[in-house]
Parts: sequence; structure tokens; C-alpha cells
Amino acid sequence: MNDVILRARGVRKRFGDTEVLKGIDLDVRSGEVLCVIGPSGSGKSTLLRCFNHLERIDAGRVWMDGELVGYEQHGPSGRVLRERRARDVRRQRERIGMVFQRFHLFPHRTSVQNVMEGPVAVKGQPRAQAEKQARKLLADVGLADRADHYPAQLSGGQQQRVAIARALAMEPALMLFDEPTSALDPELVGEVLGVMRDLARSGMTMVVVTHEMGFAREVADRVLFMDRGAVVEAGSPDVLFTDPRHERTRAFLSTVL
Ligand code: ADP
Ligand code: MG
Repeated sequence: MNDVILRARGVRKRFGDTEVLKGIDLDVRSGEVLCVIGPSGSGKSTLLRCFNHLERIDAGRVWMDGELVGYEQHGPSGRVLRERRARDVRRQRERIGMVFQRFHLFPHRTSVQNVMEGPVAVKGQPRAQAEKQARKLLADVGLADRADHYPAQLSGGQQQRVAIARALAMEPALMLFDEPTSALDPELVGEVLGVMRDLARSGMTMVVVTHEMGFAREVADRVLFMDRGAVVEAGSPDVLFTDPRHERTRAFLSTVL
């Protein structure tokens, strides 16, 4: 069994009166590709945001590389604990790459400048080294000839591939994707899924929220179906797509397959 990179136990999150995550338990193992599917509003994005500490969880625990982070620490010296928490969260977040539906590239910077920004600004890498690495990553996602273009000069699919290269530049142990192809014109979806497929084959650990059932079926080691803030079932794509155990999974799949 591979090591667990990310472990969540009893993760709860509420917004106002709505409990959006109702106690999520999950292990993500090194090298695994986990696809998360489920209806809109079921809490998929919130779950990823909790993993990346973009949201603070209300209850439960999240471990990254065996280290407990991202929960309210109670103690007599609250201030020290808060500072420690902030430092832990920063360090852990560097180990996690995230790709969103919208690409969020810096519009006034070229592809290569976008990709090298993190390593230079956050990790203090020398610019020359960061640029060399950025150009290599852009070549890996098929954009060697777009390295010096600005986002506005790129298609949505190309921008999303730059965003993937930018996340990879931080050398993450885990990549989170939140519907990375949902904002793309249909003809551009394939090039982004292709890059993600290559990344999966290279051994990257990935959690992918997606509506692309073909991708999930082909690339995922495990598929997890979420509904109303809970994990309804998880299993190999073969079993989950052809013989789901729960009626809710069956009902959802009948709407998307
Ligand atoms: P999904 O990604 O599965 O579509 P989300 O995690 O985005 O679901 O949302 C789950 C629920 O939480 C939805 O009802 C959504 O309206 C609500 N929600 C998400 N983010 C916030 C927020 N920042 N404030 C209030 N409600 C939110
Ligand atoms: Mg979402």
C-alpha cells in the first residue's frame, strides 16, 4: 500500500445555517488519481478548498504527509497557536497545487512569467533557474511556442494548461483540480484532459472534481460520489460506473452518462 498523502477525518463545514460538509472521511494515497463526482451544490469545491486551507473547517481533522493542519487549535496562549497555525498552513499549502475552473492568470504577465512567479516569489528561487524550469513545464503541457504570449493571446485551453504548469512549478506533492474543463469551449476540453492524463501517468497524486465521466472512467484509480455534503460511495471506476451500490449514485449517473 502506498503512503497516505492526505487524510481527512470527520471534516465538517457550514456556511450560516447550511451544513455543506457533513463529516467527510477520506484518504488520498501517493500516486493515486481520485475523481470526485456529484451534483452541483453537493460540496465538492468546498471539500477541495478545505484540503487546501482556503476554508477553515468547523470540525474534524486534515493531515498532510502525516502532519495535522488546518483546524482550530485551542489553548491558553491563543495568539501563539494562531501564528503557528498560519505558518503550518502556508507550508502545507505549498505542497498542494490547485487548478480552478477559471484560470486566474496574471493578465499583464506572459505564460513563462506566470509560471515562474511562485518559485521566485514564494520559494526565493533565482530567476534564471525558475525561468528554465518554467519553459520546461510549458513544453511539457505542449506550450513551448506560447511561453512569451500574454493570457489574452491564448485560448481558454491554452490558458488552463499554463495554469497547470504554474501549479506544477511549485513541485506539489498533491494536485487538486476543481472542474478544470467546465469553463472551456467543448473543442478545447480534450487538450486539457490530455495534459491531466499525462500527469496522472507520470505518477502525480491527483484529486479531480469533474463532470467528464469518460476521463474519470479512464484515468481514475478511484471515483467518489458526493451528494448533499456526504460521501455516498467510493470505488473503482469499473464498479462505480457499472454497478453502483446506492440508488442516489444510480440516479446521478443516469443524468450524466
Ligand atoms: P459543488 O462544488 O459541489 O457544486 P460547493 O462546495 O460549491 O458545491 O457548494 C456547496 C454548498 O455550499 C452550496 O449550497 C453553496 O451555495 C454553498 N456555499 C459554497 N461556498 C459558500 C460561501 N462562501 N458562502 C456561503 N455558501 C457557500
Ligand atoms: Mg464546485
